[in-house]
Amino acid sequence: MLHIGCHLSSSKGFLAMGKEAVKLDADTFQYFTRNPRGSKAKAIDPQDVERYLAFIQEHHFAPVVAHAPYTLNACSAEERTREFARMTMADDLQRMEYTPGGLYNFHPGSHVGQGAEAGVEQIAAQLNEILWPEMTTTVLLETMAGKGTEVGRSFEELQAILDRVELSEKMGVCLDTCHVHDAGYDIVNHLDEVLTEFDRVIGLSRLKAIHLNDSMNPLGSRKDRHQKIGEGAIGLEAFARIINHPALRELSFVLETPNDNAGYAEEIRVLRGLYRE
Ligand code: FE
Ligand code: FE
Ligand code: ZN
Repeated sequence: MLHIGCHLSSSKGFLAMGKEAVKLDADTFQYFTRNPRGSKAKAIDPQDVERYLAFIQEHHFAPVVAHAPYTLNACSAEERTREFARMTMADDLQRMEYTPGGLYNFHPGSHVGQGAEAGVEQIAAQLNEILWPEMTTTVLLETMAGKGTEVGRSFEELQAILDRVELSEKMGVCLDTCHVHDAGYDIVNHLDEVLTEFDRVIGLSRLKAIHLNDSMNPLGSRKDRHQKIGEGAIGLEAFARIINHPALRELSFVLETPNDNAGYAEEIRVLRGLYRE
């Protein structure tokens, strides 16, 4: 079965997200751990979490993805900004243990002129401070489009971070189709080659989730503007190949397309129709 869902608002709690996902015929979803701009997180309601865990087990959910606020920057030139990212992610990872065995995805950061190498060092240093041996969460680096000074545009940059993380077994990668496309990886015409390259540089065993987004811009544009599935530069045929690819087909696929819930339900329906059982 295709494991697919979309990004949902976490404002009504965990059980509400699980139920909303089921209404959309989803069996996974993604949510922000807190306001995407990175403010204070809502207190966890243990009863809500308990009901949610029973609910997703009953409905056979695939791994759910928590997304860190996208404004965090672990490789800012400002010490204060790096410290804020570290404190926020450390707190998120503690809270993640209420929903054990989850995936926690974050944007590696923007080096803001310090250079990718310095950025890689700062990101890895932060991870080495906040990961701990008993944690059950897998932390995912998201593949980035390379807008501005974003770190993580190439598989090599992601691997450079992974190489420096001591608790390497806690780490994985989330591949965003819009981002890798905008970064210059031709997943439309050369999906096999791109995945072979991913395997050579990082290792496919690291790949834990896929963000399914079409792109408003051409290959290599370094833009990061998501489009509805089938309405952008990637196109529906490429998505059919992506969801069915032997190296990807068992993973959790999450839509982050510009849609309301009706639009998400329709994309889920179309993609389920394209999946070969
Ligand atoms: Fe993201
Ligand atoms: Fe994404
Ligand atoms: Zn994006």
